[in-house]
Amino acid sequence: MDIFRILSRGAALKRSSNSDPGVKSESQNATKDKQNSLLRQVEKETDFFNTRKHTEVTKDIEDEAQDEAVPPPKIATEEDAAKLRKQNKVNVSGTDIPLPIGSFEDLIARCNLNRKLLANLIASGYSEPTAIQCEAIPASAEGRDLIACAPTGSGKTLAYLIPMAQALISSPKTKNYGIRGVVIAPTNELAIQIYQTLAPMCRGSNLNVTLLSKQVASKISSSIISANKFDVLICTPLRLIDLVKKEQVDLSKVEHLVIDEADKLFDHGFVEQTDEILSHCTLPTRRTSMFSATIPSGVEEMANSIMKDQIRIIVGHKEGASTSIDQKLVFTGNEEGKLLAIRQMVQQGEFKPPIIIFLQSIPRAKALFHELIYDKLNVEVIHAERTPKQREEAIRRFKNGDAWVLITTDVLARGVDFKGVNLVINYDVPQTSQAYVHRIGRTGRGGKEGKAVTFFTKEDKLAIKPVLNVMKQSGCHEGYSEWMESMEKLTKKEKQQIKQHEIKRKKISTVPQVVSKKRKQRKEMIEASKRRKEETK
Ligand code: ADP
Ligand code: MG
Repeated sequence: MDIFRILSRGAALKRSSNSDPGVKSESQNATKDKQNSLLRQVEKETDFFNTRKHTEVTKDIEDEAQDEAVPPPKIATEEDAAKLRKQNKVNVSGTDIPLPIGSFEDLIARCNLNRKLLANLIASGYSEPTAIQCEAIPASAEGRDLIACAPTGSGKTLAYLIPMAQALISSPKTKNYGIRGVVIAPTNELAIQIYQTLAPMCRGSNLNVTLLSKQVASKISSSIISANKFDVLICTPLRLIDLVKKEQVDLSKVEHLVIDEADKLFDHGFVEQTDEILSHCTLPTRRTSMFSATIPSGVEEMANSIMKDQIRIIVGHKEGASTSIDQKLVFTGNEEGKLLAIRQMVQQGEFKPPIIIFLQSIPRAKALFHELIYDKLNVEVIHAERTPKQREEAIRRFKNGDAWVLITTDVLARGVDFKGVNLVINYDVPQTSQAYVHRIGRTGRGGKEGKAVTFFTKEDKLAIKPVLNVMKQSGCHEGYSEWMESMEKLTKKEKQQIKQHEIKRKKISTVPQVVSKKRKQRKEMIEASKRRKEETK
């Protein structure tokens, strides 16, 4: 536990700075000093998921904020905007594009940002907006639909939560008016995290936000509570649709709809559900925002068809990996080589927790879990066969340092923000470049550095091609050898094949087959003798 804490101590967020430190006025510096001392206070209790209490801090800043005059916006002209966009490597397209913001305070002048919201933001440790926040917040605050693509860990969550909260807080409705904001995400873990980011932002405001957890859904379903008492719902699509079909949730008053991990929610398995939700959000003035780190052209076309006069924001390279991740490809020869590679990493001190390991299937995740437990590594496993409670417990253990290694499948590839993950290992090559970008995006978040290692065998000679492309695009030329590049370009058919068919792999195990056969026979004998005893009773 202690080792973990020391290893993850660097988890404090590096704050981005768009401002030129040389040109700050004295009053700005004084405000910054105050904010910094408050931030230090907040950071004392930094934990992984904003569970800290900071009401007192909020109050101080809020009182101060009320007295302060509205500062002039940092970005006031098209020239300022062009400079900032160049610096942030942002490409924005659409008609009448609003100016970006250069600081959160700019939002006071630009859209009369609620002071409580600003105070809550600062108290939570967010002092400067990230590139995506600079663009998406003012655009959405001015009522525009958005399609936004920005790297993993670059602060997309607040980029859509702040304008939604601001708009809803500033136009209060009568009690039990109904649901006005909905955020949908592909997994429960991600929905929980979004809720945990939003709740502290809305503290002290008139907004009633909820996570549509199993418990809340069941209370609504059995009419113990009315869904209309909530202003904002954060949920996965199926749970919401279930209640909509039972007519216990009415989406016709939804003013803000956010689709996080949009490409996933428009992909097979989710697209029907997303479509169904869209069909119930019938308010003509609805604002729709879509966010992801990867938005393939097909998805963008679909998105365009449901949006009005949207603004398109691309931060960095569309589909690109975060540049703060050092990526490496490792050829292990065969399946057995992968376990050896992990053991070698442990011996060479490269296996520095916290670590997430991705595998292609549930049986393989379970098998690796047993292998690593056998090696006395502190491991946890999360996959779709575990109950929500087990998944929550595994995450809790990983976050607080009781588990150093989290083994999982693609179920945890998207959105989940564990601060300070040092290393992501792709034990099995992911099936698409998007899956790769999202998996490795569990490290190198919030401005921190991270490492990603992808194992491959001769069976993966086609599947590593998309991985190599992402690596080249993000400038990780050291992470692969020339011979790995020498393969032909993938045809469309091959790409589809890799995406749809999992590669058949040899089972993960270091236990020789004779031993496992004997173990099995012994187990069967014990069970047979138990049965006999039962029968003779
Ligand atoms: P994304 O959705 O782009 O993958 P998240 O919204 O999960 O990224 O944010 C990644 C991390 O960055 C989180 O830990 C979050 O608290 C932090 N973060 C977000 N915005 C800021 C900001 N303006 N300043 C500092 N840290 C931020
Ligand atoms: Mg996200």
